[in-house]
Amino acid sequence: MEITITEEAYQSLLQQAKKDAPVESCGYLLGPDKHTVTVNYPMTNVDHSEEHFSFDPKEQFAAMKYARQQGLVIVGNWHSHPASPSRPSEEDKRLAFDPNILYFILSLAGVEPVFNVFSIVDGVVKERENLR
Ligand SMILES: [Zn+2]
Repeated sequence: MEITITEEAYQSLLQQAKKDAPVESCGYLLGPDKHTVTVNYPMTNVDHSEEHFSFDPKEQFAAMKYARQQGLVIVGNWHSHPASPSRPSEEDKRLAFDPNILYFILSLAGVEPVFNVFSIVDGVVKERENLR
């Protein structure tokens, strides 16, 4: 995959996730191309759950519009696992509907945060890359 994320974008989502914990945090990751993340676009976890997340459709629409206006593409979405490892849960795999975006998971369960990105097609993890 060879995905890169700027330190600024990573720090933005890390701080957001720490602030939201123990509730799962989420957002979109945007960039100039499908392999480069430069912007964290924070989203509300409308489930307010410690074990899963859902986007607000209105916010999703706003995120798409923002990306278009900025000349950026949606590289993928991310969410945090406050107390579990950085890998997709069964539910995460089932809900990964879009094979054209990547799925980033930040785990805060260990001493240091772990940040992985996955490509998921038809509920199956095809690739994984460690970013932090
Ligand atoms: Zn998850």
